[in-house]
Amino acid sequence: MKSLAITIDSVRKTYGTYIALDDVSLDIKAGEFLTLLGPSGSGKTTLLMALAGFVRPDSGKLLLGDQDITRLAPNKRDIGIVFQNYALFPHMNVLANVEYPLVLRKAPRAEVRKRAFEALARVKLEDLSERNIAALSGGQRQRVALARAIVFEPRVMLMDEPLSALDKNLRETMQYEIRRLHDDLGITTIYVTHDQREALIMSDRIVVMNSGRIQQIDTPQRIYNHPSTRFVAEFMGEANIIAPGLVRRIDGVDASPEALMIRAESFHLDAKLAGRDGVALEGTLRAKAFRGENWLLTLVLDGGQEVLVCIPAALASGCAELATGQSMTAFASAAKVHAIPGART
Ligand code: ADP
Ligand code: MG
Repeated sequence: MKSLAITIDSVRKTYGTYIALDDVSLDIKAGEFLTLLGPSGSGKTTLLMALAGFVRPDSGKLLLGDQDITRLAPNKRDIGIVFQNYALFPHMNVLANVEYPLVLRKAPRAEVRKRAFEALARVKLEDLSERNIAALSGGQRQRVALARAIVFEPRVMLMDEPLSALDKNLRETMQYEIRRLHDDLGITTIYVTHDQREALIMSDRIVVMNSGRIQQIDTPQRIYNHPSTRFVAEFMGEANIIAPGLVRRIDGVDASPEALMIRAESFHLDAKLAGRDGVALEGTLRAKAFRGENWLLTLVLDGGQEVLVCIPAALASGCAELATGQSMTAFASAAKVHAIPGART
């Protein structure tokens, strides 16, 4: 496949005194689906715009394969983009929108039409080629944007929160479709989202960003189960960060780290289910919430620390009867207790 690797080498971007990208370095493999994940303002769009050529880094280098593209014009970069604000042309129909990148590149007329229809077929829109953009749903518009991005067979795709305007069900369908399109075409893809679930579902690797810096680069499983910082632990799901001293019993757990992370869903209310080795946290029930597939319980430990405990509905037959204020103990097996290096509670 003719996809290309991307190298981001010590890229820095400031706006006045504000540091939007602080010495970001990252290697993306050819054909990889990599997601930039982070809260609003963490620098995700700035990094994508630098790759696309719309933002000029103060320093650092960007490579596509072995080609230095740091100062190359955007339309010379062989990069397909689907940005939230990189809108479709409302006065053109679907076909004309998809043909546009090829027309811009002065492809022969017959080839333009043929390749536009191939791209529309890939996103299942060939029947709507004559439609006006205004007459399309949100999901259909995003499919047109996808077709427009792939029509010139770029070697890299950049997508900036392409699904954030869609409702939940459509968003989930499109997550699978975008991933399938990636797998069919093999194009190196950098995808941006602030939604951790979306990142976990779609990615080969996730880059967690905060304040213009990379916090961790890893597979979805490692990011979720072995966060390297407190920020990553808390951003990726319901994490409890607990001082080792608060744990009444630690069997089979390294007792020396500065902080332990236990995910809310790693707890059981029945010690037997948690296994032999592990931790037991005693507290009182402050709140409980039924969330359909599970219950979320909030325990308060003696020192005042709150601990979130998530019990799957299938195991939670007694949760409806729990009364706030009652004392209870939550158990987690040693395998579910993760030391976080350098994270103080
Ligand atoms: P994200 O996409 O992760 O939400 P951005 O890359 O858009 O973050 O922005 C990172 C930071 O840089 C934000 O604090 C934003 O306000 C700032 N920023 C982005 N573009 C500009 C600009 N053109 N001028 C000034 N500040 C900017
Ligand atoms: Mg953004």
